[in-house]
This record gives sequence, C-alpha cells and structure tokens, in this order.
Amino acid sequence: MAGFKAVMVSRDENKKQSVEIVELDRSDLMPGNVLVKIDHSTINYKDGLAITGKSPVIRRWPMIPGIDFTGTVIESSHAGFQSGDDVILNGWGVGEKHYGAFAGEARVNGDWLIKRPKGLSSAQCMAIGTAGYTAMLCVIALENAGVTPGRGPVLVTGANGGVGTIAISLLSSLGYHVVASTGRLEEKGFLTDLGASEVLDRNHLSEPGRPLGNEVWSAAIDSVGSHTLANVLSQIQYGGAVAACGLAQGYDLPSTVMPFILRGISLLGIDSVMKHRHFREAAWARLEADLDLKKLEALSTTIGFGDIVETAEALMAGKIRGRVIVDINAA
Ligand code: NDP
Repeated sequence: MAGFKAVMVSRDENKKQSVEIVELDRSDLMPGNVLVKIDHSTINYKDGLAITGKSPVIRRWPMIPGIDFTGTVIESSHAGFQSGDDVILNGWGVGEKHYGAFAGEARVNGDWLIKRPKGLSSAQCMAIGTAGYTAMLCVIALENAGVTPGRGPVLVTGANGGVGTIAISLLSSLGYHVVASTGRLEEKGFLTDLGASEVLDRNHLSEPGRPLGNEVWSAAIDSVGSHTLANVLSQIQYGGAVAACGLAQGYDLPSTVMPFILRGISLLGIDSVMKHRHFREAAWARLEADLDLKKLEALSTTIGFGDIVETAEALMAGKIRGRVIVDINAA
C-alpha cells in the first residue's frame, strides 16, 4: 500500500501551533465507510484560519485541515457509493475534527459525500468549493424570500473574496443589477468583468452607522458581518432581504430592530457546513446550471500541494482574489 502526503497541523503543550508535511498511509486515517483518492481541494477562509491558527477552527489535534475535496471512491461499504464514483465533500467538520482534504486520501462517512455533477470537472468543483456553494445557498435563500431582478440593485460585500466573486457571477448571470463592495478598488475591472454593474468602496459600510439609512438595496449577500452588515441592513428597501454567511470584518452585529420592524426586512442566516444533503444537491445542481464557467475560470488560480500553507497565509492577509484550486497531485 503506497503512502501519501498530508498537511498536518499540531500544537505543543503550550498550545503553540505548527504545520508540517508528513507521509501517511491508510492505517493513519480516521474511521469512515468510504475511502477517497483526493484529486483537488481549495483554500477557504476557514482553512486559512485553521492553518494560521488565527481562530480556533481545529477541534481535534493533530489535524489535517481542508474542508473541501473532490476525488474518486477507492473503497466503500456505504450503500450510496461504490469504487470509481466521482464525489464532492463540503464541510461536515472535515478539516476541523475529522482528517481533511490536504492529503492524498481521505476516509470519511459516506453520508457526507455527494456525487459530482456530470457537467462540472473536479477542478471546477473546487474552484467553486464551499465558498461558491455557500454563495449559491445565499442566492437560493434570497429567491425564496421573494427577491427578483426587477426589484432593484443587489449588494455583494467582500466582493473580491471566494463567496463574493461567485455571488457576483451568479447574480449577474441571473439578471440582477449587482453592486460590489470591496476594499480593493484597484480590482474594479476584474469585478465588472465578473458581472458587477457598480463597485463601491467598502469604507462606506465599515464604520458605525445610523439605525436606518436611505433605502438603496433590494437585497444583499454579506460575507463580512459586523458594522458592514449593520449598515447593509439599514439600507435595505422595504420588504427586502439579506443573506448573511460570514464574518470577515467581525462576528459582532451592532444593529437595531429598526430595519426589521419599520421596513419588514429579513435577515437570512446561511450555514453550509451541516446543511442537509437535499439542499446541497439542489445547490450544486443550480451551480451546474447557472454558473458561467468562463467567469469561474477567470476568478480561479491553481496551486500545487506544496503551496497550500503559503496560500492560506496570503488569504488571511487579504491578498487572494477569487478562488484557489489545489491540485493535490501537483508538487
Ligand atoms: P475570502 O478571504 O476569500 O474573502 C473575504 C473577503 O472579505 C476579502 O476578500 C475582502 O474582500 C473582505 N474582507 C476581508 N477583511 C475585511 C474587513 N476587515 N472588512 C471588510 N471586508 C473585509 O473568504 P470567503 O469569501 O471564502 O469567506 C468569506 C466569509 O464567509 C468568511 O468569514 C467565512 O468564514 C464565511 N463563510 C461562511 C460559510 C457558511 O457556511 N456560513 C461558508 C463559507 C464562508 P475585498 O478585498 O473585496 O474587500
């Protein structure tokens, strides 16, 4: 049985964290009923937190981080999967409390896997990853709340990030007038190419604001939280909705009840990690149908296994634009 490489995050008795590349074999993997040969992964915000130790994402030590992978089933005793199936994994605590994606192989619970959509390659699925699947969950939540393209502009915060870039691409393909809020105004051309009609300096939203502002946005997708989300809520048109999925600025929400009780707006919480299979499959089917693959390519870069740690650090420093595909079998 051949071994494989893995990124292993450990910590010592003083809780000082370290990261190394180790050689493992299947006997080192954690229990599960499906063994997968991993082809691709990606670097999500949560992977950045896990690798840098910036936030306590890892809940079992040591840990192989990586919350997303695509690959091919090698062995399965799960009724839903057999050897040769192409699969996707997003979340479920993988890379946090169960050995994750930054390794040549993973053994997981088959209930966590879904079949890879036929119209998307392994690399495309990881260009989407949890960030893109979450962006799709946000779009679906807004649609379910009655948001339509005819109701007015939709704001996307954290525009250059993974969630933001895919949200912009999806919303523009669906016919929305998209306004992108970013701290990187030099990326205006990139964001308009993805489908943003306007680009807004995020500083307009990031400081403490008024409980109610002008009614500007019909809806918003927010991956930033904190004062940004509070200001977005205060600017939503009567009856509009905000899908909130992230905390890039902070996990606080210094808001008031005013937008809710005077304008009847809705705040829709989005969690991708524990989402039921039915919703995951629906979101991936919508991604297959609605996402412009040329835009997906434009917002993605590919790295090899050896670049994972450095790229995770760059993501935390706000230096990564769009999505990163990790080719697990490339050096
Ligand atoms: P990225 O790091 O790719 O993007 C985050 C973006 O947020 C940055 O590119 C930047 O955009 C913006 N940003 C960063 N810091 C600040 C700040 N201090 N103030 C305002 N804006 C800031 O992360 P992802 O897109 O992958 O994830 C975004 C968030 O969503 C994270 O908090 C993540 O944990 C969360 N998330 C939640 C999920 C869920 O299931 N609920 C699933 C996936 C992600 P710009 O440079 O354009 O300003």
